[in-house]
Amino acid sequence: MPPVCDTLSGMKRGNLLTLLIVIGLVAGCLFGQFALYDANDPIDGSHWTKQTGDLILIRPLMLMIIPLVFVSVVAGVTSIGDPSKLGVVGGSTVLYYLVTMLLAVSLGAVLVSTLRPGNLDADTQARLQTGAAQEYERSGGIATTIQRAREDRTDNLGGAWRNILHQLIPRNLIDEMAQGRTLGVIVGALMLGLAIAMGGTRTEILVRVFEALFDAIMRLVSWIIWLTPPGVFLLVAWTVGKIGFQELVGPLSKYMLTVVIGLAIHGLIVLPLVLTLFTRRNPFQFMWQMRRALMTAFGTDSSSATLPVTIESAETEGGCSKRSANFVLPLGATINMDGTAIYEAVAVVFLFQLYGIELAFSELLIVMITATLAAIGAAGIPSAGLVTMVIVIAAVNTSLGGRDVPQLPVSAIGVIIGVDRIIDMCRTTVNVWGDAVGAKIITKIAPDTVEELEAARG
Ligand code: ASP
Repeated sequence: MPPVCDTLSGMKRGNLLTLLIVIGLVAGCLFGQFALYDANDPIDGSHWTKQTGDLILIRPLMLMIIPLVFVSVVAGVTSIGDPSKLGVVGGSTVLYYLVTMLLAVSLGAVLVSTLRPGNLDADTQARLQTGAAQEYERSGGIATTIQRAREDRTDNLGGAWRNILHQLIPRNLIDEMAQGRTLGVIVGALMLGLAIAMGGTRTEILVRVFEALFDAIMRLVSWIIWLTPPGVFLLVAWTVGKIGFQELVGPLSKYMLTVVIGLAIHGLIVLPLVLTLFTRRNPFQFMWQMRRALMTAFGTDSSSATLPVTIESAETEGGCSKRSANFVLPLGATINMDGTAIYEAVAVVFLFQLYGIELAFSELLIVMITATLAAIGAAGIPSAGLVTMVIVIAAVNTSLGGRDVPQLPVSAIGVIIGVDRIIDMCRTTVNVWGDAVGAKIITKIAPDTVEELEAARG
C-alpha cells in the first residue's frame, strides 16, 4: 500500500494540474480574442503563439508517440498472453470502434439532413462560394496535401482501402516508425508481442523488459504533462486569435452548431449510454477521471499527441486495466474517430447543400460509408479529417456523374477551412472520449490479474 500522504499529494497534484489546464484554456480564449484577434489583419499559421505552443507541448508529446505505441502494445499483448483471449479482446475492440463510428456517422447524417445548415439565402451562398476557391488556394498546406493524395491516387475509395491495407502490412517497420505511421507500428508490435507471449520461458525476460520500458516511458509522460497548461494556453490563443468568436455568429454558424450538436449528443448521451450498458458504472464519473486527456485533446487538436495523457489518465485515475488500455488506446487514437465521422458527414452534406446540389438517399448512404472510412483513415493530427474529406466528396461526385447532376469542386472545402480549427478542437475531444470509453468497456473483458494489481500497488 502506498503511504496515505503520497496518495493525497498525488491527488492534490492531479487537481492542481487540472486547475492549471482549465486556466490555460480560458486564458487562451480571452488572450486570443482580445489581444490577438484582428479582423483586418488575420494572424498567420506561423504566428509566435502557435510556434511556441508546438515547441513546448506538441513536439515533446509527439516525441513520445512512436516509442509509447510500440512498447505499450507489446506490453499489452504479452500481458494478455493467451492468443485466443487476445483474439476476443482484438475482435471486441474493432467491433466497438465500428459500431460507435457507424452510430456517429448516422447521427451526423440525420442532423444535417434535418437542420439543413447549407440552405442559406442566395446572396450568402454566392459569397461563400466565391470566397471558397481563394481560401482553398491560401490554405497552402491543405491544398498541397490534397494535391499529393490525388497524385498518389489515394483520394478515392479504392485508394483509401489500398492505403489502409499497405499500412496494415508494412514492408519496413523502421520506415513506418520514421514516417510516424502508427497503424504499421501497432501491427509490428502486435506480432512481436504475440511471439514473445508464445515463447514461454525462453522469452520471459522480454516481457519484463517491455514492462519496465513502459513504466519508464510513462514516467517521462508524467513530466511532460506539466507542459500542458502553457501549451494549451498558446495553442488555443492562436486558434481564437485567428478565427475570432465573431465567426460563431457568422454565416457558418448553423453549420458549426450542427456539428457541435452532433458531437454533444454523441459524447454526452450515446457514448455514456453504451458505457453504462456494458459496465453499469456512472459514465460521468469516468468522464471526470479522464478530464486531463479530454482537455488536452481540446487544446491540441490531436488524438495522437494526446495519447500519452490518455493512457496515463486511463490507468492511474480511470480504473482501466493495463491490458486493455495499452492495446485499445493506441489503436483507438489511430483508427477510432467518432467525432471526425460526425463532422465529415455533416460537412460534406452541408457543402452540397450550399452549392445547391440535392443528394438522393443512396448518395447519403455513400456519404455514411465513405465518411466512416475517411475517419478511420484520418491520422490523429490537426485537420486530418478535413483532408480525408476529399474521399467522401469524390465518391459522391462519382455517383452524381451517373445521374448527370453537376459535381462539387474540391475547392469547395475552402468554405469551411477558416473555421476548421475550432471544430477540430471539439471533434478531437469526442475522438479521445470514444477511445477512453472503449478502454473502459474492454477492461471488463481483460481485467488485470490480482497479482498484477498487487505488484502495481508495491
Ligand atoms: N484532429 C483529429 C484528431 O486528432 C482528426 C481530425 O482532423 O478529425 O483526432
